[in-house]
Amino acid sequence: MQSKPWFSYNDYLQKRFGEKVYKVTVSAGFTCPTRDGKRGSDGCAFCDEHGSGSFFSAGQGTAAIRDQIVQAIPAIRQRFNANKFLAYFQSFTNTYAPVKYLQEVYDGAIGIPDVVGMAVGTRPDCIAEPVLNLLDRYAVGGQYVSLELGLQSLRDDALNFYTRGHTAEEGVDGIRRALKHKNLAVCVHLMFGAPGDNLQTAIDAAQTMNDLGVHGVKLHQLMILKNTGLATRYAREPWPLFTLEQYNELACAFLENLDPNIYVERTHALATHPEDLVAPDWASKRWEPFNDLVRRLTKAAETRPSQFGSRDLSRIQ
Ligand code: SF4
Repeated sequence: MQSKPWFSYNDYLQKRFGEKVYKVTVSAGFTCPTRDGKRGSDGCAFCDEHGSGSFFSAGQGTAAIRDQIVQAIPAIRQRFNANKFLAYFQSFTNTYAPVKYLQEVYDGAIGIPDVVGMAVGTRPDCIAEPVLNLLDRYAVGGQYVSLELGLQSLRDDALNFYTRGHTAEEGVDGIRRALKHKNLAVCVHLMFGAPGDNLQTAIDAAQTMNDLGVHGVKLHQLMILKNTGLATRYAREPWPLFTLEQYNELACAFLENLDPNIYVERTHALATHPEDLVAPDWASKRWEPFNDLVRRLTKAAETRPSQFGSRDLSRIQ
């Protein structure tokens, strides 16, 4: 494994907390507006999240989340020699509930020894002001709060292709509103691989992230998983997906044009259950995609001087 020629999230957390920080995934019973009928009923076309999304009973959320975290920590501590942890509300839309319920489940991540904060995965069209205010209060109270916003694309035709149920404008508006809360870290998730994605759209996406002033980004390739809307469409009429080389060309262009003070949480998605992967094959490989991108970016840095100055780690507090 080679080192990373970009500002990795690990490096960011290391600088902020003085050591590595590990995510502890928790499940809080949420659903999504593309599942419950508000903006669709079959989920986003690429998504293979399953489950009914049933809330905890009133008054049970805090203890249920706390139990999940407390039970998960010893194994992670032992495996990675870890000392600090983040509660990661990952699956489904983790702000899509009444604020009272949100507070109850987020409270489950507070006051646990060595848990330094939370990462909340959600959609940029599901962060109304009361939700942002609630998250901001945790941050003001000393928690590290990272909002992970699934934007996926800045192009409406790609968002329609993914059946996301929101426009690029709504997505950008959500990111802007989140960024007004200065205590929150805002990480935007983007996917490359929809028809129409190309080098220029990748460069434009990097420029938009720079202009917005996001704290982090997470990249992943479009992959088709079984039991998804895309799998049904692909079986009916396959279309050419990005090869590894094509995807990495876009990822490289994106990273070359990204402000080096923006951390990068991930550059590829890994199909952790290869038996559920329909295409592309390379999505089940852990290191080949990563190493190829490192080589490309290293070579690009040798031949093209960066348009940016050096990274300013003093900005991390
Ligand atoms: S991608 Fe996110 S918002 Fe869409 S269905 Fe899956 S969990 Fe829900």
